[in-house]
Amino acid sequence: MKNITFAGLLLTALVINTVALAQDNRAVKQSTGKPEETEYWDPEVRVVTSGGTMGMPPSDAIVLFDGKNLDNWVSVKDGSPAKWDLKDEAMTVVRGAGNISTKQDFGDYQLHIEWRAPNEPETLKSQGKGNSGIFMQGMYEVQVMNSYQNRSYRNGQAGSIYKQSAPLVNATSKMGEWNTYDIIYTAPRFTINGGVETPAYVTVIHNGIVVQNHTKIQGTTPYIGAPQNTVHGKGPISLQDHGNPVSFRNIWIREM
Ligand code: MG
Repeated sequence: MKNITFAGLLLTALVINTVALAQDNRAVKQSTGKPEETEYWDPEVRVVTSGGTMGMPPSDAIVLFDGKNLDNWVSVKDGSPAKWDLKDEAMTVVRGAGNISTKQDFGDYQLHIEWRAPNEPETLKSQGKGNSGIFMQGMYEVQVMNSYQNRSYRNGQAGSIYKQSAPLVNATSKMGEWNTYDIIYTAPRFTINGGVETPAYVTVIHNGIVVQNHTKIQGTTPYIGAPQNTVHGKGPISLQDHGNPVSFRNIWIREM
């Protein structure tokens, strides 16, 4: 948890502020010439207290994993309790145990999550090394992978929107060291006819470095084939079992 996410949190504040400004920037029909006409006092902006140390959950965060148990997580395939390993305040993929999901569903949010690619032999390469993933609404993958001195296709490496958008830079920590992701996600909106009204957008800050800047998500992120769009409501955060013992810790979310 030592990774500095200060830049990340600054950007987050900027994004949130921009939205608030847009809401508050109401049109003035006929100016009175007074500064007060463009000053809005109500409703008062809600106070949230930071987690103190950077990366720790703010006062209004929902803590999804604090290292103590997997109570907020279930197996995707059958809804049974998540069967990943719990050790040293981290949870680790158990090969074959399958993907896990939060019990709770989310729409728009700010997500903080830390991950670590395991020490694995040099014989493992490209997508076979330290591969996992974070699925927003259970279907749009932000790739987790050991991309430290491990080439793969650029739109499939760590920080990519899998098979859609390569990260702006490669910010991956050395094998065996922790990474942070701060993800700001806006869910897609659909028309009553089943079309996409507005697509999903995502900003990803990896170890304090922006790697996705308000990136448009084209649809699902399949291994083979084009992105698909189906109408859906809120969905869980899912984590991928890709067969590599990738670990996660300190996971919290703020709904927006
Ligand atoms: Mg993956």
